Amino acid sequence: MSHPPVVLLVEDNPRNLKLARDVLEYAGFSVVVAMTGEEGVEQARATLPDVILMDLQLPGIDGFTALGLIRDHGPTAHIPVVALTAFAMHRDRERALTSGFAGYLEKPISVREFPAQVRRHLPRPDAPDP
Ligand code: MN
Repeated sequence: MSHPPVVLLVEDNPRNLKLARDVLEYAGFSVVVAMTGEEGVEQARATLPDVILMDLQLPGIDGFTALGLIRDHGPTAHIPVVALTAFAMHRDRERALTSGFAGYLEKPISVREFPAQVRRHLPRPDAPDP
């Protein structure tokens, strides 16, 4: 990938948002943020990021609904969307995996592991276009 990978981070908790953004920017990602599901869908359409990290519990539409809107819109339909789930929310993680998320990452994030965990979900540069 010739440009820095672009991550759209959808998270309504300002502290979680800042930590994840700082860690990813430090690791060389270009980070776009949104704090509601609606704003996340808009940003996905506007920026066509390489990967989306989606909190599930959001004000307004939740992460599952936002995922559906991203999947139903041609230009964003193929973008991998990874759920951000609170550690205690076992049911959310199960539901994420059966709802079309590419995977999930637990909060609180591991500062050391997070960039590699996100990079794992980037489309492979040598893969043919979908
Ligand atoms: Mn939340």
